[in-house]
Amino acid sequence: MAVAGSNSQGGAPGTLYVVATPIGNLDDITARALRILGEVALVAAEDTRHSSRLMQHFGIRTPLVACHDHNEREQGGQILARLQAGDDVALVSDAGTPLISDPGFHLVRQVRAAGVRVVPVPGACAVIAALSAAGLPSDRFIFEGFLPAKTTARRTRLEHIKEESRTLIFYEAPHRLLETLHDMAAIFGDARQAVLARELTKTFETLKGAPLAELCDWVAADANQQRGECVVLVAGWQPPEGEEALSAEALRVLDLLRAEMPVKRAAALAAEITGGRKNLLYQAALERQAED
Ligand code: SAM
Repeated sequence: MAVAGSNSQGGAPGTLYVVATPIGNLDDITARALRILGEVALVAAEDTRHSSRLMQHFGIRTPLVACHDHNEREQGGQILARLQAGDDVALVSDAGTPLISDPGFHLVRQVRAAGVRVVPVPGACAVIAALSAAGLPSDRFIFEGFLPAKTTARRTRLEHIKEESRTLIFYEAPHRLLETLHDMAAIFGDARQAVLARELTKTFETLKGAPLAELCDWVAADANQQRGECVVLVAGWQPPEGEEALSAEALRVLDLLRAEMPVKRAAALAAEITGGRKNLLYQAALERQAED
């Protein structure tokens, strides 16, 4: 088992450990995270006051240094120097996994580019915790992080992903939750299934699944649902069945080809040209022929 700490005497560089911390319930810290936080020479923290409280709770006295969005690039150089001098360093954020909608990306990139080892120490992460209990398809999903705060940019982003078939997962601030749910209902459709995962691992943990319009009403009717921390999960887009699943362009090409050749050949060629499904195009061709 690798031992964290200082190995400066051997001349080898240290290791940067990317350590996940709890997202609410302190029992969710792992035994390995506690060991590493206790053994490294330095903990680089998004907010040193916040992380020192966590470390005090577990009786860990390792020195802390601030590493956040505003100083990550300059601080990175100093942390890299410590690593190159042989010290092991742990990177933590305020909650959950660093780099997941949290600082750390620039540091990890810089450290890896310098050829210094970076080791993940996995643990809590709100997106994964929410997905694991939401009951939406979890085999393929996309994490969109926080949507833009400005209405136009947020709606544009939602428009861009409205036909995404994988489960969609968003972080959202409580004061924007209702507005965001309304935009989602308007763009993804009132009936699209969604889940609000709020205050995970904490006293008022709530997981509410409903079609988007219903979820909007439910959140609007209870101010408590607009407090705390939340993840919004939305079922992926399902293509409509039958002829509706074909684009207008596919049907236009099909009609042109149908005038020149047998329906089976026309459907096969239209599928090749437009990327539409051959069996649907054939079905559409037969229906159209019957109507001619
Ligand atoms: N790095 C963190 C992680 O691994 O999940 C995320 C940090 S991001 C700045 C904070 C956002 O994560 C919150 O606004 C919320 O969307 C989500 N979040 C964090 N803790 C949560 C919790 N206990 N319940 C629900 N969502 C949470």
